Amino acid sequence: MSGLRALPSVDRLLADCGALIAAHGRAPVTKALRAELAAIRAARPDPLPDDAAILTGIEARLAAQAQSKLRPVLNLTGTVLHTNLGRALLAEAAVAAATIAMRAPAALEFDLDSGGRGERDSHLRGLLCELTGAEDATVVNNNAAAVLIVLNTLARGREAVVSRGELIEIGGAFRMPAIMEQAGCRLREVGTTNRTHPRDYREAIGPETGLLMKVHTSNYRIEGFTKEVPAPELAALAHAAGLPMVNDLGSGTLVDLRRWGLAPEPTVAEAVAEGADVVTFSGDKLLGGPQAGFIVGRRAIIAAINRNPLKRALRLDKIRIAATEATLRLYRDPDRLAARLPTLRLLSRPQAEIRAQAERLAPRVAEALGCAATVIDCASQIGSGALPTETIPSAGLALTPRPEALAERLRGLATPIIGRIHDGALILDLRCLPDDAALLDALA
Ligand SMILES: *Cc1c(COP(=O)(O)O)cnc(C)c1O
Repeated sequence: MSGLRALPSVDRLLADCGALIAAHGRAPVTKALRAELAAIRAARPDPLPDDAAILTGIEARLAAQAQSKLRPVLNLTGTVLHTNLGRALLAEAAVAAATIAMRAPAALEFDLDSGGRGERDSHLRGLLCELTGAEDATVVNNNAAAVLIVLNTLARGREAVVSRGELIEIGGAFRMPAIMEQAGCRLREVGTTNRTHPRDYREAIGPETGLLMKVHTSNYRIEGFTKEVPAPELAALAHAAGLPMVNDLGSGTLVDLRRWGLAPEPTVAEAVAEGADVVTFSGDKLLGGPQAGFIVGRRAIIAAINRNPLKRALRLDKIRIAATEATLRLYRDPDRLAARLPTLRLLSRPQAEIRAQAERLAPRVAEALGCAATVIDCASQIGSGALPTETIPSAGLALTPRPEALAERLRGLATPIIGRIHDGALILDLRCLPDDAALLDALA
């Protein structure tokens, strides 16, 4: 009991904390100091730590607080667009545009020609129409928001007709039936899980119908005895009844991915050409930009969406508009897209290049971690629901033994390294490793 009285006072310790105060500020240092002393009083160690040990404890507390939880990690999971790791990495042009928008006022809703009020979507409309062939375009917070506002605008209090085979869950709380409910429309399911015919839609259409919807089943495939109504046919059915057809593409892409040796994913331009009145897709999936939800389609429908009060609640800020515009601009020059857009660059990295990197790194990783590191062939995925059954040949390292313990250790690094455990090994797929030094520095 009397021992604790030997602990130094707050004031005496603060006098030794000059450098820490300069680095962190007086208030956080005082707080850390009190917390450290309280912890010692509670634990009653014998012998008591001396001043130097107490100061080390304070320093450790401050260092832990100074570290952001949102700090960079190395994504070696093999999933290029990893939702939990933030999806697409932005192109340098997008980063630069966002930085400029953050630092200076921008003519966000200000028309520089007339000096009057401008429109925030005008910065993106032209590019989106050019790249998709749509009449008009608008943009909201993400694709979930895009689907929400489209349904709410076109089918509030009415029925939205969707095939049972397309009632997707994207993960977390995004389930198509739940979004429909929040949008205020009634889900009218037609067909069966594996087969839906034109007559199923036709029989469902009545005075209550607000729209026909197609949802790209982005994160699963139904195979075998299946039938779906292709988009052009569904659009014709809708138009014959005087209804709009909405196509939620999910990831969507603006370019034909076959050009880079990837499996094809429907392009937005195709979906528009197939007769959809509205197409929705994400900004941070295959498109490779910041989080955003794009809505392209008929002028009258886009105008109605822009008049919906929800638009204000779901709109983008100037930073993301700037980054989105710079990202879209890169698509005007497809020849240099893979060199400039990180998502495409990573997806199209050849397996031989990744394997050579794995061979260079294996001995050094083994030495740094004191474990075995075997070069392996593995399979990357696009992620975020794009082409779920397609994988991309890749290479990496299989670390053994005790993969769980290794994974925990790598997560605890200053730059955490995230791999995946498979077949008794910790697999580091090197597809998304920017360069050798990034891994070696993280391990140092
Ligand atoms: C990913 C996805 C969504 C949701 O998009 P977010 O950008 O994640 O909000 C909606 N529909 C489909 C088909 C998707 O693949």
